[in-house]
Amino acid sequence: MKILVINCGSSSLKYQLIDMQNEEALAIGLVERIGIEGSILTQKANGEKYVIETPMKDHQVAIELVLDALKDEKHGVIKSMDEISAVGHRVVHGGEKYAHSVVVTDEVMKNLEECAKLAPLHNPANIIGINACKALMPSTPMVVVFDTAFHQTMPESAYIYALPYEAYTEHSVRRYGMHGTSHKYVSDKVAEVMGKNIEDLKIITCHLGNGASLTAVKNGKSVDTSMGFTPLEGLVMGTRCGDIDPAIVPYLMKEMNISAAEVDTLMNKKSGVLGISGVSSDFRDIEGAAKEGNHRAALALDVFHYRVKQYIGAYSAAMNGVDVIVFTAGLGENSIASRAEICKDMEYLGVKLDEERNNVRGKIAEISAADSKVKVFVIPTNEELMIARDTKELAF
Ligand code: AMP
Repeated sequence: MKILVINCGSSSLKYQLIDMQNEEALAIGLVERIGIEGSILTQKANGEKYVIETPMKDHQVAIELVLDALKDEKHGVIKSMDEISAVGHRVVHGGEKYAHSVVVTDEVMKNLEECAKLAPLHNPANIIGINACKALMPSTPMVVVFDTAFHQTMPESAYIYALPYEAYTEHSVRRYGMHGTSHKYVSDKVAEVMGKNIEDLKIITCHLGNGASLTAVKNGKSVDTSMGFTPLEGLVMGTRCGDIDPAIVPYLMKEMNISAAEVDTLMNKKSGVLGISGVSSDFRDIEGAAKEGNHRAALALDVFHYRVKQYIGAYSAAMNGVDVIVFTAGLGENSIASRAEICKDMEYLGVKLDEERNNVRGKIAEISAADSKVKVFVIPTNEELMIARDTKELAF
């Protein structure tokens, strides 16, 4: 059985065709600049790279090209579309309606439209992707997998903001959390690798990429997570500020004479490690600049690491302890220096990293010392596989 996983952004689309027999990706692709000049599709399959540069006016054209690329005689991996048993779509926001993945129906599509105001940058693109696939593959089952779903188990005390209660009841303002598919995948995986039942573990999962969030996973359930109503809350990220004093927002609007939309852009696109360093939003560039003596780059890293440490402390408190800390995503899987910095001075918690074991990138590894009370692991995330597994389970 082969499952196509689609992750639609506003002008981009990531996809994978996964063979569920061995859970391996047969093809991995990326379409960029949909609807703008310079549209390009890049597919990796059979150890080769296949590139198509042609105008793509919308997502439907892009998905048609994806299907053509998958079927391509020379570079493709299937002979006909009938080989695609089902399609799994990543959707960012499922609101409070969805604590699990669901099969696409008319009612689900209506609910997704309703959730769109909670994720105006993401959900509309996800919906366009689903509709485009439905038009091209009308008889293929489709499933949606939500980024927010895993966090629906958070207790009220963790998700209610101390605003007038009507902000929640009338305007749906509460903490939802994101990256749920990744946090669930790596927490399940670490339990499997440790040979433990996830029901018996207190896990802190650190998804550290361009977007970053931490989750407290107790007995297999998310009990707290650092992203909130939107992905802006929590950690310092590539370009997002994370937690700040909310009074800064009206203050800057007045001082800089900028609109609500402009301050939103400032916090989402111009802040984070980019904002502090002035160098880049990419951690590799910042690490490089810091090594060359750039103070603001070094400061950006310090602020980033300090915030992660604070959240690890907070989530240990929330769970009355922690058994295992997991690092994942671009930085978490690859930055030896960042992992070492975050885990430094954590003896109080029982965390002791092994320098040699930590010298690892992008693969499953236990990086804590043999006598560390709290285990520390690197677990590469695989959101696409998680989506494919849910799709297989629900579509048939
Ligand atoms: P993601 O959003 O998960 O793709 O992660 C992207 C981030 O991971 C970028 O900021 C990269 O700079 C960072 N990253 C990837 N590889 C490394 C590495 N070897 N060292 C430091 N950061 C890395």
